[in-house]
Amino acid sequence: MSITLSSTDLEHRITQLFISAQCTPEVAQQVAANLVLANLSGHDSHGVGMAPRYVDAMLEGGLDPNAHVAIQVDHGMLLGLNGQTGFGQIVGVEAMHLAFERVSQLGACIMSLANSHHLGRIGHFAEMAVERGWVSLHFVNVLSRPVVAAWQGGDGRYGTNPCCIGIPVGMGDDVREPFVLDFATSRVAQGKMRVAHNEGKSVAPGILIDEHGHPTTRPGVVVVPQSNGGFGALLPFGEHKGFGLAVACELLGGALSGGGTWHRAADAKRAVYNGMLSIVIDPNALGASMSFAQETLAFIDWLRQSPPAPDSQGVVLAGEPERSARAARKKNGIVIDDATWQEIQQAGAKVGLSI
Ligand code: NAD
Repeated sequence: MSITLSSTDLEHRITQLFISAQCTPEVAQQVAANLVLANLSGHDSHGVGMAPRYVDAMLEGGLDPNAHVAIQVDHGMLLGLNGQTGFGQIVGVEAMHLAFERVSQLGACIMSLANSHHLGRIGHFAEMAVERGWVSLHFVNVLSRPVVAAWQGGDGRYGTNPCCIGIPVGMGDDVREPFVLDFATSRVAQGKMRVAHNEGKSVAPGILIDEHGHPTTRPGVVVVPQSNGGFGALLPFGEHKGFGLAVACELLGGALSGGGTWHRAADAKRAVYNGMLSIVIDPNALGASMSFAQETLAFIDWLRQSPPAPDSQGVVLAGEPERSARAARKKNGIVIDDATWQEIQQAGAKVGLSI
């Protein structure tokens, strides 16, 4: 059994959950809205299903609901920030606003953010930048549990390290929907395995290995402890190339930000930390305003003229699936599977709230 709720209703209930967990109403609402937007965008892995984990992390002391971003390095275009284990939905947005001030003044900003709690859907930050007509790149590592195997490795060594690139398309009277590429460098996001496991579904071959390093289609291998007390692992996307990008995300998001890389055995803590390196560029400041707008339009139009391959729906550009999902789910509501809803209700019970 699943439950279907409107985005407004769901946001209200999740806001109440976070308020009961000692968040201020403002923080609770901002975090809930971010999670619901992930559901609306079709990414249930980064939606309200994360809320129970956030509540546990607050109760354990690994997530500080009152923390704000702190500036550690402030040097022209360079900003070194610390999220001080605050909500990624709060400190991540604060960090982007600080970066935007620099882009307005200087044309670009290289910003690193260490010690943020889970930043959620990274595309949210790229969407903030493209709304302003700016390009943004994000390289992120995940400090939680080593859930992804190295290419040709037999166990989990690092996280699902997302990479995201947002590019505005066109300008003036001819602004088109932006290109927003935003993905985990594992074959699929870990949260999608949680959702599949909760729904009792198998997943496609080629995504997972079990706790002994053998291929499996059981998503539970990365969700619940296995026969040997350990976990299986997700495989990297794109073979050696995707693995290389994942390592780059770990080194840029973890080592360069100062937040740290993963190089130890897993523990049972519920907090998830992200480190992020972001680069935001104003194309006008690079002297490319007209040519950039014309060339982005020309290339996107050229791609769209491609005939659909047999039995396909034709060319789709990054960002489109999320926009379509938002339109459909705003109209039809958001479906929450039974196991996820029970976890949310249990999280409510932990903080004295009946959801
Ligand atoms: P995914 O595999 O669904 O890929 C999403 C990207 O591919 C989007 O840019 C989408 O527009 C594009 N896309 C989808 N279908 C397409 C098609 N047919 N043609 C062209 N482009 C297409 O995403 P994912 O890897 O499951 O990641 C989901 C979310 O999880 C992302 O928002 C990511 O930021 C987030 N994430 C966050 C963390 C974290 O620790 N904060 C870790 C991993 C992932």
